Amino acid sequence: MTVQTAQRRECPACGRTIYAQGAARIIEAARAAGGQDLVDEYLTKKPWLLRRKKVRVNEADVALRFDEYARTGSLRVPLELNDLDVTVGLREIKVGPARFPFYELTDSEHAVTVTRLTHGFTKGTDQTPPRELRRAKAIMELDRQS
Ligand SMILES: [Zn+2]
Repeated sequence: MTVQTAQRRECPACGRTIYAQGAARIIEAARAAGGQDLVDEYLTKKPWLLRRKKVRVNEADVALRFDEYARTGSLRVPLELNDLDVTVGLREIKVGPARFPFYELTDSEHAVTVTRLTHGFTKGTDQTPPRELRRAKAIMELDRQS
């Protein structure tokens, strides 16, 4: 079995990093402060390995989930796609203990709806930590302006 990791390439339209592209969505990392890609930071630094209570984020599953959402605009397991804040259009993709908040937009530069992932974090409890929600909203605002 080959281990699949999230493939990355630069978007020719906006310069952001594309994590998956399909008939329904282009999944990109939002631009955080300083143009940072916090999805890459999460997947590269693997902060879940540092947790005392062991959790495992399966990177092959992350890639598969992103691909499925890009192809279909939906996920087969409904609970893998959650609303975080409907008033601002913030949702999240869930992959095991990993969470990727996102918002979506359409513009003339991209052929299909763009999904912008704000960052990644590992969820330990049932509640989304308010800190992560605030962070997602702040990055969303920054990304919209850049
Ligand atoms: Zn783009």
